[in-house]
Amino acid sequence: MALNLVMLGPPGAGKGTQAERFAREHGIPKVSTGDILREAVHSDSELGRKVKTVMERGELVGDDLIIGIVRERLVQPDAVAGFVLDGFPRTAAQANALDQITAERGPVICVEIQVPDEELVRRVRARRVCEDCGANADAFVHQADALPDLCQNTDRCRSVGPKWVARSDDSETVVRERLKIYWRDTRPMIEYYSARPTFRRIDGLQTPEQVREALVSAVASALGLPAGQLQSLVAKKLSGVKGGARP
Ligand code: ADP
Repeated sequence: MALNLVMLGPPGAGKGTQAERFAREHGIPKVSTGDILREAVHSDSELGRKVKTVMERGELVGDDLIIGIVRERLVQPDAVAGFVLDGFPRTAAQANALDQITAERGPVICVEIQVPDEELVRRVRARRVCEDCGANADAFVHQADALPDLCQNTDRCRSVGPKWVARSDDSETVVRERLKIYWRDTRPMIEYYSARPTFRRIDGLQTPEQVREALVSAVASALGLPAGQLQSLVAKKLSGVKGGARP
């Protein structure tokens, strides 16, 4: 059985931070549509030029475009044993597409992190990302509030000094626009997921460590497994995939 996880929740709920850690601890890739798009903007690729203005306004990029990106990413060998999706799906059309993409891939666990709007605005205002690679500082800081001297995203980042900046779409006006779109487009889609037996909700107002524990328990319970067995699930799946194992 694969470990397919979809993180749901509003901007600033902590999806990215939790997705990053869960993926690392379970040996599956984190697929964040926000990160993929930000990287494209950063490298000024054709895709990046197409989506830059839309993202800066806090609006959603087109369904067909983002569905194509996710479809392509999830067929890569490292995603065969499972994946953590962050930032997708956000609309009913994206949710339908994900159902099709994952039809033959075992259960998809959906976990919603719940956080009230006012707390989201506060968090997003305080959020800092690496100027060089766009990685979220929080994703690498699990205990203290202090930012590390260097970006810890060693796989991809060439940063040689601390350059923590606010994300260009994290201004208060844009955050409120993103929340409006979340309530209009994404929230109804989450309601549609909530009727499924593999849907779980967790409280995002807890400490990051408590949210992490709640996430692991939620995924295990959705799969009907004890929490400690999630790792072996992925290990077993990877051992059966020729050339698909990651270090
Ligand atoms: P947040 O941290 O607010 O959840 P993300 O980093 O996931 O935001 O996404 C940033 C921006 O990228 C969104 O505001 C939107 O413009 C675009 N984006 C990301 N994922 C999607 C998606 N699934 N559909 C449409 N647009 C998306």
